[in-house]
Amino acid sequence: MKRIAQRVSFQFRLAQAAKRDAKSPRLPTLWYENKDGQRWVPDFDKEDGTNPPPGYHYQWSRNPLTLQDNCLKINTPEEVAACPHPEEDIRKTYGWIDGVEGRECARCKGSQTKNVSDPWPDKWDSSGSYNLMSGNSGYSADLVLALSRPSPAELLKAFERGYVGSPVVFELADAVILAASGCERCMNALAYRYGLDWGYARGSKDWDAAGTTCFICRRGPRIWEMLERGKR
Ligand SMILES: [Zn+2]
Ligand SMILES: [Zn+2]
Repeated sequence: MKRIAQRVSFQFRLAQAAKRDAKSPRLPTLWYENKDGQRWVPDFDKEDGTNPPPGYHYQWSRNPLTLQDNCLKINTPEEVAACPHPEEDIRKTYGWIDGVEGRECARCKGSQTKNVSDPWPDKWDSSGSYNLMSGNSGYSADLVLALSRPSPAELLKAFERGYVGSPVVFELADAVILAASGCERCMNALAYRYGLDWGYARGSKDWDAAGTTCFICRRGPRIWEMLERGKR
C-alpha cells in the first residue's frame, strides 16, 4: 500500500511538473516596439507599469490559447460566368513570370492571365477560393490539459465525484476543439468530470440554470455517455 502511495505521489509530482513549474518564466503575450525594433514589455504588477515609453508605437500581442476557424468561399463557375466584371472592380494581380500579367475581378473573384502582348481573353477563370471569414475562440488551458493528460490529482478528484472508470483521453487537437467550442455548461461539466477545481455536474441545478447550448450538448446524451464513462 505504501509502495503504491509512493508511486502515485511520484506520478503526481511528475504530472504537476509537466503542467507547470512554479519557477517557469511567464513569456510575454503583449509588448511594444519602437521603430528600431527594440522591445518594451509592460509590467502589470506595477502601478503605471503599462504605459509604454515615448516612441514605442507598435503594440504586439499574441494569443497562444485560441482556436481559429476559417471559412473559405470556393469560387463557382456559374457566379463568374454571370458577372459583368465591371471596370472599377478589376484589379491587377502580381507575382507572374516575366512577360505574363494577371488580373482579378473583386466582385466574382474570377481571374485571368495572359501574355503581355496578347489581348485579354473572353473567358474568366473560376478556380481557387478566398477567405470569407475567420473567427477565434479562446479556451481554458487547464481543461485542455485535463482532457488530454489528466493528472493523478484530477483523476482522484473525478473519482471522489463518483467517476469510477478512467476518462476518455483526447488527442491534444481534439481537446482544444472541445474546450474552445463547447458552451458554458458543457465546459463546466467537462471540468467537473475531468477533476478540475471548477465546474459542475451535467444535469445539476447549475447546468439547468446555464441554459446554454452547443454542438456537444445538442448531440444529445450519446457524447456525454462517452465523456462520463465510468460514472457510478
Ligand atoms: Zn466578375
Ligand atoms: Zn453545450
